[in-house]
Amino acid sequence: MALINTTRVYDIDGTDPWEVSRAQMDLMSQISKLETFLIKEVPGFSNSFLVDTASLIGVRETRHILGKYLLQEKEILDAKFFPDAIYHNTTHLPIGKEMHTPDGIEGSELDLANRIEKWPRHSHSVPFGSLVARDVKNILVAGRCISSTHEADRWTRHIPVCYGTGQAAGTAAALSVLGNISVGELPVDKIKKPFFVRKFAFGKTIFYWHRGIFALRVAR
Ligand SMILES: Cc1cc2nc3c(=O)[nH]c(=O)nc-3n(C[C@H](O)[C@H](O)[C@H](O)COP(=O)(O)OP(=O)(O)OC[C@H]3O[C@@H](n4cnc5c(N)ncnc54)[C@H](O)[C@@H]3O)c2cc1C
Repeated sequence: MALINTTRVYDIDGTDPWEVSRAQMDLMSQISKLETFLIKEVPGFSNSFLVDTASLIGVRETRHILGKYLLQEKEILDAKFFPDAIYHNTTHLPIGKEMHTPDGIEGSELDLANRIEKWPRHSHSVPFGSLVARDVKNILVAGRCISSTHEADRWTRHIPVCYGTGQAAGTAAALSVLGNISVGELPVDKIKKPFFVRKFAFGKTIFYWHRGIFALRVAR
């Protein structure tokens, strides 16, 4: 079975249901063309058929909550230390350059820079204030809609950050209910505490669980 990730639509407002529907139809038509191309042109695909597609179009960015803190890209690039940091992320991204430009160059033969350049690793943190709604009491957000600017979003929308903010928001929600305290007043140290490494042994194997990363070590 081949898994093919290649369709793309530009200039869509992901907050407009009509535009999203139009993009969905456009993508379906791209899939149909791609299927025909594979069957006709690519060796080994002559008897192939489409098994499934994603159920919905994926949109990189739409709305964000306006939080107690609005994370800026400069703070990410400066690796600013936030006393209420709840997640530390490290990633490879081109600094000062958008990878997913709407000019259609991405993925084309003109896109060599993006394909061959090795972007340096950069680390940054995400403050808890970006998860707490500024104007509505007791609303927490996690994932790509946290309070970050459009420029900062290209760092914060990544899956590992979504995991981390999800873990933090879930922990904060539970602590808020247990302690009968509003989410904005929670002491951040309390939220961070359950993130520390959890370790347990099973026979000779030691299991570690830390911020969504699972590891094991077998004692000799
Ligand atoms: C094309 C594309 C490529 C990407 N590539 C990468 C990549 O290579 N690496 C990377 O790290 N990141 C990548 N990303 C970014 C990353 O995948 C997303 O930012 C991330 O998955 C967002 O996670 P989330 O939990 O915020 O939202 P989602 O993963 O969208 O989860 C939201 C969930 O809520 C559900 N939902 C919505 N409304 C309701 C409702 N009313 N009731 C109940 N459920 C509801 C949805 O069905 C969905 O399951 C990519 C994104 C796109 C679109």
